[in-house]
Amino acid sequence: TYILGIESSCDETAAAVVIDGKTIASNIVASQIDLHAKHGGVFPELASRAHVEAIDSVVDQAVNDAGIAYEQIDAIAVTQGPGLVGSLLVGINYAKGLALMSGKPLLGINHLEGHIYSLWLTQPFAEPEFPVLVLIVSGGHSELLLMTGHGQYQRLGGTIDDAAGEAFDKVGRLLNLPFPGGPNIERVAKMGNAHAYDFPRALRDSSYDFSFSGLKTAVRREVTVPPSGSRSRRRRGAEKRAQLRSDVSVNDVAASFQVAVTDILVEKAARAAKAYGATEIFMAGGVSANQLLREKMRKETDLPVRYPPLNLCTDNGAMIAAAGYFRYEAGLRSDLSFDVLPTWPLSNGLYEEV
Ligand code: ATP
Ligand code: MG
Ligand code: FE
Repeated sequence: TYILGIESSCDETAAAVVIDGKTIASNIVASQIDLHAKHGGVFPELASRAHVEAIDSVVDQAVNDAGIAYEQIDAIAVTQGPGLVGSLLVGINYAKGLALMSGKPLLGINHLEGHIYSLWLTQPFAEPEFPVLVLIVSGGHSELLLMTGHGQYQRLGGTIDDAAGEAFDKVGRLLNLPFPGGPNIERVAKMGNAHAYDFPRALRDSSYDFSFSGLKTAVRREVTVPPSGSRSRRRRGAEKRAQLRSDVSVNDVAASFQVAVTDILVEKAARAAKAYGATEIFMAGGVSANQLLREKMRKETDLPVRYPPLNLCTDNGAMIAAAGYFRYEAGLRSDLSFDVLPTWPLSNGLYEEV
């Protein structure tokens, strides 16, 4: 079964063809990192325009690379949400057009479910025994879920403010590192002392929720020169222009910050896995590319830990196609009139419709 997956929820225009939900036949990602780097973050207006410009050739290339003709595709899966409205609409409208033209079934996919199904693309793949503890850590989400079957998720907790990836990006900006912050913090942290600063670990003993905004504030207080002038003259985005104190070691701050974030993620995931009798821990999303997070997770639990290959941690079309395959097999189809869902939590029921 060939599924074409299309992803455009944020700043990657991506398309892929996946066979039987597991084998990648092609995987094309057009990243807008360079476009957004000068703004220090994703700029929604620019993002949707760049998606419009890229999508046709990205999808075409995915089908060509797979060595198949459009006619051989069994279904089209596209990210329906969550994400940026303008960006999502580009992918959705393109997919609807394809489906209408070809008469192929269409599947609206939850982007977070896509991240989870990036695990199904690791080779060789062994089907897990459910329940599995899932930690999704990405640019917009930090979610702890119990996956009890295909399409079945019980939400245990998540961030109450910033996502883990967002914290990496904001701290990266504070440290004048290039965008995105995650990989750059990881790079310089290797040269730093993780014990140099004792940054806070929030909500340590309670619940399965995360909070990263206090950590970001603590880093800001530690590394920046207090803004001069009256409060009223400080504008939004002050952290962007915050001046780095000259005596601050960027490497030490990065290392200490990274250890604080990963400590709390691992601690809560390990505790939840135990409490809910999970057989394995699955990590997904951009932050799951972090080597320290992977290492600590392996060390601090007796359970097997899985994470996607590096190129599948961040947004891609293959994970959307993989998630689409399981919905397709379950007989689910989306109506051609389905709408964009900019916020869409993973719900509890089996492929529960919204
Ligand atoms: P969402 O999936 O929540 O909609 P997104 O799709 O933008 O958000 P991803 O593409 O999954 O997020 O991940 C991007 C995030 O991952 C960025 O915040 C980036 O800084 C972070 N990231 C990438 N590589 C690393 C790394 N090695 N260490 C830590 N963070 C990383
Ligand atoms: Mg991205
Ligand atoms: Fe994502």
